[in-house]
Amino acid sequence: MRDGGCAGRVCLRCVRHHLDAVHSAMRDGRRIEFVLPAFPTKSPNPAKVLGPLPDLAEELALRFLNELCERISEVYAPGAAILICSDGRVFNDLLGVSDDNVTAYAQALDAMITRIGADRLEQFSLDDVYTGAGHEDMRTMLSAGHAPALEELREEVRAGGAPLAMYRGITRFMLEDLSGPAWTGTRSALQRRCRDLAYRVIQRSRAWGNLLDRLFPTAIRLSIHPQPCGTDKIGILLADTPDTWLTPWHSVAVEAGGRFTLMKRAEAEEAGAELVFAGGRPSHYVLHQAAASHGGGPWDRACA
Ligand SMILES: [Zn+2]
Repeated sequence: MRDGGCAGRVCLRCVRHHLDAVHSAMRDGRRIEFVLPAFPTKSPNPAKVLGPLPDLAEELALRFLNELCERISEVYAPGAAILICSDGRVFNDLLGVSDDNVTAYAQALDAMITRIGADRLEQFSLDDVYTGAGHEDMRTMLSAGHAPALEELREEVRAGGAPLAMYRGITRFMLEDLSGPAWTGTRSALQRRCRDLAYRVIQRSRAWGNLLDRLFPTAIRLSIHPQPCGTDKIGILLADTPDTWLTPWHSVAVEAGGRFTLMKRAEAEEAGAELVFAGGRPSHYVLHQAAASHGGGPWDRACA
């Protein structure tokens, strides 16, 4: 988290929490294992993404994560692996995303991991926990066994700090995702609905995190959300993007001047970026320099 209170580039307070897990893996000669709740499902908002399936935005993030593990192998022979604990099934009903879309996204992500040879990455989801159960029943069992009370979460958010930042970030995503033409009520009713949904998304993610802690007690927890100094998770940025809350599943990959960033689809198009297809499917955008200087706005912000 920017301004999260860290002391220097490698912060000893942040590292301290994770050193034990790394030391104990190294003592036993085990590979270092990370757990990352991420890659849930694409945002249902067509102004932000190219569709329900993973595209180059996900591919770049997967390549980065695999490369991170390879770099660890260079200094520690048993190496490292990241278990991607897809949390789509955990809260897709709250986002208005179908279970079929969650399944299709996870299967396509698996195929992508195989295709790019990201052999340090594996997927794990609610489907692997409650094998054979119905999707609605899976969510009910998860909540019943592992979710904190909503009142407890409201108190945490009221106290400010990181929980408040998380609540605001998620409320913002819900507003963006649900404010399409499908919403027929007033703006203030939508805001109330999104605030309520944000609490329930946090409640389900917390339940998922609690279950993962139990299932993988020796793993090191990574998080895609910015973390303040010295927490039990290491915050990790999946892409080179100025908005630390933007993820590959809320945006599109945009190439400009030889490097990639993430932008909302509508912003990429407003800036004059050109859509690129790969294997017959929309993949990402390219922003040519002339378009970048004419288009202005979003790209200038992305470079800031
Ligand atoms: Zn720190």
